[in-house]
Amino acid sequence: MIRSDRDNIILRCRELSQQFMVDMYVKIESERLRYLRYNQQKLRAEEYIHLRDAIAKNADTAEIGNSVILPSSYVGSPRHMQEYIQDAVTFVREYGRPCLFITFTCNPKWQEITSLLLPGQNAIHRHDITARVFKQKLKSLISFITKLHVFGPTRCWMYSVEWQKRGLPHAHILIWFVDKIRAEDIDSLISAEIPDPSTDQLLFDIVTTNMIHGPCGILNRSSPCMVDGKCTKRFPKDFINDTVTHIVGYPIYRRRSTENGGQSFIKTISNADIDIDNRWVVPYSPLLSKTFNAHINVESCSSVKSIKYICKYVNKGSDMAVFRIENTNVNAPPLNENDEITNYQIGRYISSNEAVWRIFGFQIHERDPAVIHLTVHLENGQRVYFTDDTALDRAINPPKTTLTEFFELCNRADAFGAFAQTLLYSEVPRYFTWAQSKKWMPRKKGTPVDACPGLFKSNNLGRVYTVNPRQTECFYLRLLLVNVTGPL
Ligand SMILES: [Zn+2]
Repeated sequence: MIRSDRDNIILRCRELSQQFMVDMYVKIESERLRYLRYNQQKLRAEEYIHLRDAIAKNADTAEIGNSVILPSSYVGSPRHMQEYIQDAVTFVREYGRPCLFITFTCNPKWQEITSLLLPGQNAIHRHDITARVFKQKLKSLISFITKLHVFGPTRCWMYSVEWQKRGLPHAHILIWFVDKIRAEDIDSLISAEIPDPSTDQLLFDIVTTNMIHGPCGILNRSSPCMVDGKCTKRFPKDFINDTVTHIVGYPIYRRRSTENGGQSFIKTISNADIDIDNRWVVPYSPLLSKTFNAHINVESCSSVKSIKYICKYVNKGSDMAVFRIENTNVNAPPLNENDEITNYQIGRYISSNEAVWRIFGFQIHERDPAVIHLTVHLENGQRVYFTDDTALDRAINPPKTTLTEFFELCNRADAFGAFAQTLLYSEVPRYFTWAQSKKWMPRKKGTPVDACPGLFKSNNLGRVYTVNPRQTECFYLRLLLVNVTGPL
């Protein structure tokens, strides 16, 4: 087929507009990183309190002096993602394991997307539309579960959005229910079988288009999931007549063979008809699949062992490119291993969709309830930054931290102070908010606290920063703080 000049021009314009989005975002990001590089001294003091802990290799202060820090306040940086992992672990410590682990992928065939495309356009040409629609759908999926309580009342939730190379966005979601899912309830929530088209044609269509893995293996050796001749997702799964829950890993969901009442259908791949049965189905929730018509993988987290992996996986961040450019010029300055900004930029891969998402300023992570981060430092160990003009003031008034103000709170002569003495440091954010004025203020909303009239309890959680055991004194201070209530 010969393309007309007009087609060629349109095609070129599309490529250019994609490239423009990425270029624009790369410029924005480079500028932000450049600001951080040249303003290391001004970065928020709190960032540095836990710095020695974060540099795992060596706690030598001289080396920290040379390092360039990419602070956790930089959205998407490794340190930022690390905070999310720790926050997820805070949820687990408080509420036990999450109940559902959901992966929600943008469907470029959603009517909301296709109806907005201009003639000749494809979803991949309009990342502005796919990003906006996915954001709305994600919001609606979260409220479907956490506000409409379609699976029962929820305790807490979190999600992180990420992009595969060149890919559309997907979100990893963790949900905690008030009542844990019982083994006998799994079949009613999650299915790994092809629905019967005679009873539910719509669900059959959605599952067969969105929820079939591969096929890979001997049927299709070039499938992207294949590494060293094996499927990395371990498909095809075995047939099994009943769901089995395991101590290790996910439950093994029911997958009946056609002899035992399972369904199958014919899929055409490279002109060959392949019979697809229940061994190829990615576990899904019939309710969510029907409501959102997308690839929505739903897993029940039955095992304790998978928690740490999931908390990490959900917050791992987008793919990094795995190449590195070495400077072979012998006169070039050596690469600074402690230069986190350069290290971050070296592996950074920005897809058009991520560029658009970030330009729009959409969130890449949300959760409920909030997790308040609590600092630990020795007396006057908080970092102080000053200029010639502010030095005197800083020396007289050392900066207030969540910790110094916790001691202040416990010293209060009123009922709030007496109540605070019954709390662990990590419990304070439940009853007090960290105000702009750097003070713990009694909460005015939530459930009234009987023991302390005028005080209200919220769902917010506190997380005390970890301290490297090498910083002996500070480490033991933290140990005391997490075990002893109301220090005075
Ligand atoms: Zn596979």
